Amino acid sequence: MATVTFFHAHPDDEAIATGGTMAALAAAGHRVVLVTATRGELGEVADGFLLPGETLGDRRAEELAAAASILGVGRQVVLGYHDSGMEGEDSNARDDVFATADVAEAAGRLAAILEEESSDVLVTYDEHGGYGHPDHVRVHDVGMAAAELAGTPVVYLTTMDRDFMLALRTEAAESDHGPEDNLEGADTMGEPSERITTEVDVSPWVGAKREAMRAHASQITEDSFFLQMPEDVFARVWGQEWYIRVRPEPEGLGDGVREPGLLVAPGGDLAGGTSAGVTDR
Ligand SMILES: [Zn+2]
Repeated sequence: MATVTFFHAHPDDEAIATGGTMAALAAAGHRVVLVTATRGELGEVADGFLLPGETLGDRRAEELAAAASILGVGRQVVLGYHDSGMEGEDSNARDDVFATADVAEAAGRLAAILEEESSDVLVTYDEHGGYGHPDHVRVHDVGMAAAELAGTPVVYLTTMDRDFMLALRTEAAESDHGPEDNLEGADTMGEPSERITTEVDVSPWVGAKREAMRAHASQITEDSFFLQMPEDVFARVWGQEWYIRVRPEPEGLGDGVREPGLLVAPGGDLAGGTSAGVTDR
């Protein structure tokens, strides 16, 4: 059995980007560790949603714990940096936010967890954090440095298949179940198809993924575009998760050739001693 650590920026990122993969790994008996950098204190929340005296960070920490349990996480850690806010906001420059955190210090904390867990795999973000949020970019930098420090054998970047998102936008524009403005910015989202090395079919796990998204009720409301989708549309949009394997450097992957899971490597020489893909049930 392998141990796979997922490193995310805010509560809800784990459900949206990697929830299906986490649920699939856990169901196959692997150990799933979730490390989240911040409590997402600067997210938006509807008036009257929080209880008197309750902070958004407190609520989101509870939502995160609930989502982690739905996804089968074996250990959940919040590093406790402050949310930096959306790109371009003044809060980006505060000295207690994750975007300005010292990379070596943060990487040391993540590396300590990777070592304690003897984690076989680390999942961090692509170089621009999928869409440029300063905390997401920091997740990439800190994740890469931590894997180096801990000597984690296998590293993946979670991303979105940009060409898939663009096709979805065109489809939404042509159908009546839009609105396609939810895919605004699709042309810079994620990474081009040709860079993607790994596509996990999480269609058997979209139910758990949807429940985990629902656990983040302060951010993903019941009447949101995400949760309002009919089941078949939801499965089509969320039924696959994309990764770029950066360690070990892949050979013969990308440009249309993709691995089906995080525990597969050509040659079968991955630490963890299994050649089974997570889709191999
Ligand atoms: Zn985020």
